[in-house]
Amino acid sequence: MTNYDVIVIGGGPGGYVAAIKAALAGKKTAIVEKENLGGVCLNWGCIPTKSLLRNAEVVRDLSEGEKFGFCVGDIKADYAAAQKRSREVSARLVKGIEYLMKKNSIKVYRDSARFTGKKELTLAGGEKLGAKNIIIATGSKPFALPMLDYSKANVLDSKKALQLTKAPKSIMIIGAGAIGMEFATVFRSYGAQVHIVEMLPRVLPGEDEEISALVHKEFTKKGFDVHVGTKLVSVKNDGKKVTANFEKDGKTFCIESEMVLAATGVRPNTEELNLKAFGFQLDRRGCVEVDSRMRTNVDGVYAIGDVTGKLALAHTASAQGMCVVDGICGKDVQTLDYDNIPKCTYTVPEVASAGLTETKAKEQGYDVKTAVFPLSANGKAVSYGDDAGFVKLVYDKKYGQLLGVHMTGIHVTEMVWGIVGYLQMEMTVEEMAKVVHPHPTVSEAIMEAAHIANGEPIHI
Ligand code: FAD
Repeated sequence: MTNYDVIVIGGGPGGYVAAIKAALAGKKTAIVEKENLGGVCLNWGCIPTKSLLRNAEVVRDLSEGEKFGFCVGDIKADYAAAQKRSREVSARLVKGIEYLMKKNSIKVYRDSARFTGKKELTLAGGEKLGAKNIIIATGSKPFALPMLDYSKANVLDSKKALQLTKAPKSIMIIGAGAIGMEFATVFRSYGAQVHIVEMLPRVLPGEDEEISALVHKEFTKKGFDVHVGTKLVSVKNDGKKVTANFEKDGKTFCIESEMVLAATGVRPNTEELNLKAFGFQLDRRGCVEVDSRMRTNVDGVYAIGDVTGKLALAHTASAQGMCVVDGICGKDVQTLDYDNIPKCTYTVPEVASAGLTETKAKEQGYDVKTAVFPLSANGKAVSYGDDAGFVKLVYDKKYGQLLGVHMTGIHVTEMVWGIVGYLQMEMTVEEMAKVVHPHPTVSEAIMEAAHIANGEPIHI
């Protein structure tokens, strides 16, 4: 048996970041990855979707060329080229992670691991590994809707959708969370007729209600067929055409399309790990239970990322990984405030938020006030010809303390990190208004919203 200080199972953004940090701290570190380093994020999630969204943006810009004085003529948008580029981008970044493993002298096992002792792993190839500390970072996979037959080529989950080399002519997307809405944006930009169906009462249900309302309105304007509060009842599929029945407010209706994509969440990769045999506590979804320092109930074994079911985002996984290694190294551990982890959706308009929504702040007993600044009054957004959106501040009435920021519009995903800092520092809207923002930028809308909160609206 080969022994290490730290073994990480899973090479996604949780696992590989934890491994680098452990190696930097001088720990003898190994990582076991059964597929590609980079995990879902680099291979089948964040990165390939953003590459496709970039191609989709170029298609939209070209088709709106006339607005800017260009006569582009008929555009031939080659989806296969977009898909190829997205795979190349993923491959390049995966190579980067491979390089980082070498640079930091991290031993990489290309294999699948399972527990055969509380501190012992056996690889599918038979090798046994032991470690003082084991970090479970095995991530998640798309939740499969039982009503759909995934063996058919026209029934997609996110991984299959990323392998399409031809955009569908029509598609119904079940689930209007970030993943569903992003794929919808890609396919619509390539001319698909897109139906979006969400069981909850609004699109992007995890976001502030006003954000959902504006995104719904903008999607409808762009020709998406959006149904919320709508339940999938039955599906027929002859392999060429999917016919699905839905129910809304007691009435049923039917949608037909070439393809269907289920984007209804993820479930943890725990089955293969043999966790139950060693008494690991799992929750009802099968996620590994951890405390605020990502410790499982088994001493010296930690879990991070999607497998913990906390907030399935790449930067959550990485941040959890860093916390774990700080703990292993005996450093102070900054426990994560999950409300203050930024969330981004790369639709048109983009969405970004951090902190409490208005509803959540009220539920937590705050006397809540809000201030909203529309991008139609923001110089940069107007000069870009894309002024749909707003910045909404949620703050408490008594002290003016910022509780949450919810933004939709161009570039907002690049702006939200600063808000996380404001929230961490427990800034007031008065202090925020004094932070000088560069002009012209969309970020000025944050300062302008703070001026409104202080009763001194400047540009509105
Ligand atoms: P993963 O990235 O899932 O990696 C886990 C790794 O463990 C995998 O490589 C797997 O092969 C390996 N593994 C599993 N079991 C074993 C085993 N027994 N032995 C060895 N290896 C094993 N998040 C964002 O923050 N921003 C986005 O824009 C975004 N877009 C997304 C788009 C899509 C389509 C999807 C599906 C997800 C997206 N996400 C996004 C979510 C993000 O990808 C995940 O939150 C993130 O990858 C989780 O990281 P992780 O390290 O926990 O696990």
